[in-house]
Amino acid sequence: MKGPDGWVREEIGALRAYHVAPAAGLVKLDAMENPYRLPADLARSLGEHLAGVAINRYPDPRDAALEAALRAAMGIPGELDMVLGNGSDEILQMIAVALARPGATMLALEPSFVMYRMSAVMAGMEYAGIPLAPDFTPDLPAVLAAIERLRPAVTWIAYPNNPTGNLFPRESVLAIVEASPGLVVVDEAYYPFAGGASFLAEVGRHPNLVLVRTVSKLGLAGLRLGLAVGPRDWLREFDKVRLPYNVNVLSAAAAAFLLARHEVLDSQARAIVRDRAVLEAGLDAIAGVSRFPSAANFVLARVPDAPRAFGGLRERGILVKNLHGAHPLLANCLRFTVGTPDENQRLLEALPPAIG
Ligand SMILES: *Cc1c(COP(=O)(O)O)cnc(C)c1O
Repeated sequence: MKGPDGWVREEIGALRAYHVAPAAGLVKLDAMENPYRLPADLARSLGEHLAGVAINRYPDPRDAALEAALRAAMGIPGELDMVLGNGSDEILQMIAVALARPGATMLALEPSFVMYRMSAVMAGMEYAGIPLAPDFTPDLPAVLAAIERLRPAVTWIAYPNNPTGNLFPRESVLAIVEASPGLVVVDEAYYPFAGGASFLAEVGRHPNLVLVRTVSKLGLAGLRLGLAVGPRDWLREFDKVRLPYNVNVLSAAAAAFLLARHEVLDSQARAIVRDRAVLEAGLDAIAGVSRFPSAANFVLARVPDAPRAFGGLRERGILVKNLHGAHPLLANCLRFTVGTPDENQRLLEALPPAIG
């Protein structure tokens, strides 16, 4: 039969497509989205701005207005080079594609962002996941031993880490950068909620350190815009595997417009951080729930029976992420995205009966 069997690479056949849970009619606390829309007047002026965009033209591959807005909003110095992606997911993919020499290995700490492994498999790289310690900090001797043994082409570190929410000790991250013969990418998708914790100031001081950020968790997930910042010699190679025109004109124009007014997004992020503390305190008061510290816009917690609690919350109209089965260290863990105060309150009220 002229089907895909025997033609599609085996490792792709074994892969499961990235799953997005249906959320219609539910309070959506599963995907680390900012729960707030733009203020109406800002949304209207954005619409007017986008009406002036020349959608008959291909995007400008070096969009100076967008780059300047990103640098200003994120404090990225002019001397650091930048590559833009269709979300940071595309940056992961570009890095994997560029580094996928036969036998090359990607290293990541686990549990972490599932797209690291997926991007390795898609690009045809080997993948090695080194388990975190039970408190979700890196097991540094094990990581350093793996680096020596496997000589990974790239090591991914999410800072803060998803789905655990914590910031790894700075010295551990720097020790991994120092010990790595290949590239180390620090993925700061959750930087808006991390209280200023960042490796941005380290970029440029290490020949093998690249930083990745995104506007997704800041409140612009629908635009699909991410970026890599780092030494020119690495970024030049990644830029070669970037598809031409990967960031569309409407996303570029909307992001430049909104990042030039980033105070709105920043104050939403501050509200999310305040509400995270309320959610954490509420979770701590529920018997049977043990939650982990978070520097991100979500909170990880262990319950007696996560699949059951997940189902119970869903019946009560609340969608969260069930991580039970995703990794042994995540047994009976649920991940709650911080929503609006009202949504968080609904979660806190629904959780005790959902736990049952
Ligand atoms: C959500 C997330 C991203 C995805 O970012 P996009 O820019 O939306 O593709 C990247 N890294 C981590 C660790 C994430 O949790």
